[in-house]
Amino acid sequence: RAKDEGGNRYRFFTEEMNREVRQRVELEAMLRNAEQRNELELWYQPQVALSTGQVVGVEALLRWHHPDRGWISPGEFIPVAEESGLIGAIGEWVIGRACDQAAEWRGRGVLQVPVAINLSAAQLRGTGLPAVIQRALGRRSLPAEALQLEMTESLFFEDDVNVRTAIAELQSRGLQLAVDDFGTGYSNLGYLKRLPLAKIKIDQSFIHGVPEEPEDCVITRAIIHMAQGLGLRAIAEGVERPEQLELLRQLGCDEVQGYLFSPPAPAAALEARLAEGGDWGGMPAAGRGAAG
Ligand code: C2E
Ligand code: MG
Ligand code: MG
Ligand code: MG
Repeated sequence: RAKDEGGNRYRFFTEEMNREVRQRVELEAMLRNAEQRNELELWYQPQVALSTGQVVGVEALLRWHHPDRGWISPGEFIPVAEESGLIGAIGEWVIGRACDQAAEWRGRGVLQVPVAINLSAAQLRGTGLPAVIQRALGRRSLPAEALQLEMTESLFFEDDVNVRTAIAELQSRGLQLAVDDFGTGYSNLGYLKRLPLAKIKIDQSFIHGVPEEPEDCVITRAIIHMAQGLGLRAIAEGVERPEQLELLRQLGCDEVQGYLFSPPAPAAALEARLAEGGDWGGMPAAGRGAAG
């Protein structure tokens, strides 16, 4: 009997695995055509300076709308893009699109702040990313400050020589680097002193428990102090409630980003919100004119 159950369990697992593999293959095939079919979009979320309430940066977040399946989240398709190698082409599209938007906003005097894009390890492992970024900026006569690059901490202590070379090259070309999801990777903090980074993004999982959970407050405070002691800016991700903002203000956090200010939104919606003017710091503006 035990043997039978084992057999059934085995069959169950293989069926489950087959289904997962099939879904992955299907998603990959859909993703392969997504760019040519104009199914990809960049949405933008403001980063606000706590002391002034000014928008000091905008993060570009990739959105995929499939005609039959609707919106597919980056959490689902980015890993597939990374494993299939499609991230190279998609990443180039993101760089080009972000630069187009930055050039457009600068040209019309809407926003002069950096547009931050997210980079995966797979993009840096492939050769040529610094050149791709340089060309994208050059073609639109943009300065290096027009873009900011967000990477998770594991990328900063990769053994891969291509990754190390790419990071050094990007920095020497004047691109600002930000550490994304700080505090969630298994990290050897040595890279913080080796590399001239611009900012540290405190992971949302810590901000989530602020100010109710003492541990989250202690960790958040420690990250802010460490960042500032190293001459970097600290930004809190996932700020949703005024209580969180209040504590971050007390802790002297430099910047904030989250639904409290605005969810990621299409460029036009963000622009409409900017045109309304008013204060971003402390004043919940979420939802106003922004979809997401
Ligand atoms: P991330 O870079 O850490 O982005 C932050 C995520 O938190 C985004 O999810 C954003 O929509 C969400 N978020 C922002 N404010 C709040 C808030 O107040 N509360 C909550 N609960 N969430 C908030 P999204 O857009 O689903 O992106 C997920 C991840 O996918 C990103 O995490 C990033 O790692 C990756 N990703 C997105 N776009 C790109 C891209 O163009 N290239 C690459 N390589 N990865 C990307
Ligand atoms: Mg990010
Ligand atoms: Mg993050
Ligand atoms: Mg993330």
